[in-house]
Amino acid sequence: MTSYISTRGDRTEFSGARAIIQGLAPDKGLFVPTGIPRISYDFSGAGDAASGGSGADGVTGGGSGAGDAAGGAGAPRETGGASRPCTPYRDVAYRVMRAFFGDFSDDDLHLCVDGAYNSDNFDSPDISPLAKTERAFLLELYHGRTAAFKDMALSILPYLLTTAVRMENEDRKIVILTATSGDTGKAALEGFADVGGTEIFVFYPKDGVSEIQERQMVTQGGANTHVYAIEGNFDDAQRAVKAIFGDRDYEAGLEAGGYRLSSANSINIGRLVPQVAYYYFAYVRLVERGEIRPGDGINVVVPTGNFGNILAAWYARAAGLPISRLICASNENRVLTDLIETGVYDANRRFILTSSPSMDILISSNLERLLWHLSGGDSGEIAGYMRSLESDGRYEVSGRVREGMAEFLRGGSADMARSHAAIGDLWRSERYLMDTHTAVAYSVYRDYADATGDQTPTVVASTASAYKFADRVAGAIGLGAESDGFAYIDALHTATGVDVPRGLRGLRDKAIRHRGVVTAEQMPDAIRTALG
Ligand SMILES: *Cc1c(COP(=O)(O)O)cnc(C)c1O
Repeated sequence: MTSYISTRGDRTEFSGARAIIQGLAPDKGLFVPTGIPRISYDFSGAGDAASGGSGADGVTGGGSGAGDAAGGAGAPRETGGASRPCTPYRDVAYRVMRAFFGDFSDDDLHLCVDGAYNSDNFDSPDISPLAKTERAFLLELYHGRTAAFKDMALSILPYLLTTAVRMENEDRKIVILTATSGDTGKAALEGFADVGGTEIFVFYPKDGVSEIQERQMVTQGGANTHVYAIEGNFDDAQRAVKAIFGDRDYEAGLEAGGYRLSSANSINIGRLVPQVAYYYFAYVRLVERGEIRPGDGINVVVPTGNFGNILAAWYARAAGLPISRLICASNENRVLTDLIETGVYDANRRFILTSSPSMDILISSNLERLLWHLSGGDSGEIAGYMRSLESDGRYEVSGRVREGMAEFLRGGSADMARSHAAIGDLWRSERYLMDTHTAVAYSVYRDYADATGDQTPTVVASTASAYKFADRVAGAIGLGAESDGFAYIDALHTATGVDVPRGLRGLRDKAIRHRGVVTAEQMPDAIRTALG
């Protein structure tokens, strides 16, 4: 059974349930699976997604990337796939979750998956529908309540966490701390609002989120929700959250009051594993539609901020999904592009506010996990990188890590001018509307494909509804100026006819409930005061 250990040297092995409750490892490292399960992408058989089958075929060290389930290879190419019923998202999610969280019972996992991925929470029966454009497939991950891809994991995390609390007989109240660059916050609030045994705190950069994102958060209902703007950027918020986790005295104080800290950020392994599922789902759909044959390689392009989404794609690859290249797309804050090109991670640069705010990040936390895996689990090496990042803001990766990355990882960045142009191009040529984050990925992919001639079928992770960034998207397709974010939503809807997501309708008239503004230094006190 897969267990979890820290990236930084603590050798204690934690169950999946424990790792989810803790959020961060005791030595402030991140939890990583000790072995990566192999997961079949062949759902054509009698459905081992039902309980009792063997979706996870044992444990490997991971990283090979070669599929083990090419049973259908050589079969006649299907077109349209109408003859065979489509595999439901829930079956795929269940199989992936069971492979990583073997300590959960089958019944519990079914309850978690069914509770999260349904028509109450998602406005598409496919949960994450796969759209086809001329150049690439767009995996629309934004059909959940808050219209961004964070819903894919945060709709299930509350179920996983409350199940884990029961499994572990945890009797303290769980206090969930969340730093957000805009989308995680609302998705976490929506997921945890009024969930018994939890209090949820969200900290967002005061001037670093879109008007719609902010309004979504400050209007959040629920007796256990706490939302603060912080004077600073996302990195400041994330650093402060991690510092609270590392502060033993502070933690002891909370524990004496009957509280235990956890996190809804993608530093929590319970955020990452559910995200592995949609890469499998995309692959299964491509096969079902006859776009690829089982075993064919695909490329995946991910608009990246904290490196969670792309890491989930890497876990999918390591678990056996045939992903040839992973393309890491950045906006002007191109730390990761530079790392991939030079082997040096250097956060010593100006933090740039862009039209893709959820990617405005200089310290991408989850990269630590990939480095750990590529270093062969060398926690001394990883701890060294992280010390050097803290003291000097930079580190250089080893030759082994660099070679490991070169095997599958490509990077690129697109600035606002290029990504907005891509939104306009795709709208005019194919009447397909992208948001600003997806547009960064799409532009980077366009550059990559033009430069390399790589014809591999490619999936671009589409991470938000265009309406969350309606002002920028409206500008990109040539619409005029409006008075506020809501007027932009109306104008965009009138011009395009694209449905406005459920969660954004009616937002204009919702009462503002959260008005707190704090500095990063004041966060610990704000939490204590709110808990009383
Ligand atoms: C969070 C987010 C990203 C970045 O994802 P990471 O997992 O942090 O790399 C990209 N686009 C949108 C819309 C997001 O909300």
